Amino acid sequence: MSTKDSRRNIRELDYEGIKALVESLGEKSFRAKQLYDWLHVKCADGFGEMTDLSLSLRQKLEAAYDASLPEAVKIQESKLDGTKKYLFALKDGQLIEAVKMEYHHGVSVCISTQVGCRMGCAFCASTLGGLVRNLSRAEMLSEIYAITRLEGKRISNIVMMGIGEPLDNYDEAVAFLHMISDERGMNISPRNITISTCGLVPGIMKLAEEKLPVTLALSLHAADDEKRKKIMPVAKSYSIAELMEACDSYFEKTGRRISFEYALIKGENDSDEDAARLAGLAAKRRVHVNLIPVNPVTERGLTQPDGAAVRAFLKKLQDKNVTATVRRELGRDIDGACGQLRRKSL
Ligand code: SAH
Repeated sequence: MSTKDSRRNIRELDYEGIKALVESLGEKSFRAKQLYDWLHVKCADGFGEMTDLSLSLRQKLEAAYDASLPEAVKIQESKLDGTKKYLFALKDGQLIEAVKMEYHHGVSVCISTQVGCRMGCAFCASTLGGLVRNLSRAEMLSEIYAITRLEGKRISNIVMMGIGEPLDNYDEAVAFLHMISDERGMNISPRNITISTCGLVPGIMKLAEEKLPVTLALSLHAADDEKRKKIMPVAKSYSIAELMEACDSYFEKTGRRISFEYALIKGENDSDEDAARLAGLAAKRRVHVNLIPVNPVTERGLTQPDGAAVRAFLKKLQDKNVTATVRRELGRDIDGACGQLRRKSL
């Protein structure tokens, strides 16, 4: 691995950028389509594979740009459900995780958006070492492309729920969304993409204006401000009332139903009163509540309520006509919770 490689990642260029590059090298414009296709449809790992481009063009590109995909340094496959977790090494040696899950409706991949995270949620392993750096649009695309290549399968759904807070890396995350949904590239419809946030209100408001009908998942985890502040530092900046306003405006502008993520933590947010408060927020909106028994993170000493308590909590929501489900815990045996695999490898 050459750590001093300062070449730009060519996947940072969108279609117009590739066109301009190809023209600047004195090539015919149809070469742009070929090159873009290799990069964003065929998921080439380097210029060497692009055999319908002339050797001289490939050499010119190679001199200034990098087209390699990140290396999967570790792959864990769940024996329970086939979920696969990939640990990727980036060019500067940083490690990130992505997860592939297979459902009857297709293949879904969960990607990271930052190396580490600075949001500080009490139950989350990704935040333990703080934020190292943002991922570029090209690095986010490359998570998808590397898995497409390894699996030889088309990916149909994306969730931005891996390491990092996507709205804390807003410009790159949105550029990624535009590029992954480009019909000349992977062409994954924004409707099949979910962006998950701990609740950065200005980011939610801005995203609502992007004309990208992606599903918004709000990591709520507590239905009153005091409890939320105890487990999520971001709650000190934005109240639940402000968050609900942002969600309402997101729904109004995009028509997309929002989902509330709620990690059940024993003794913290799993009481009858918590359920009633959560139902109060959810019942008046078109939201779907996802309950997730918290994935224990030993460093934090937080545990999940038992199965009966989870079912009782769910029933309280459903009795108030809230659409709610308990999320299937895929990949429990492979450190499925975000940040756990990277954490163990550091
Ligand atoms: N920063 C974004 C996306 C990454 S976290 C966000 O906060 O939404 C993805 C989801 O996993 C979030 O809902 C997060 O709260 C949840 N999560 C993190 N650690 C968890 C754990 N130990 N158990 C259950 N869910 C967890």
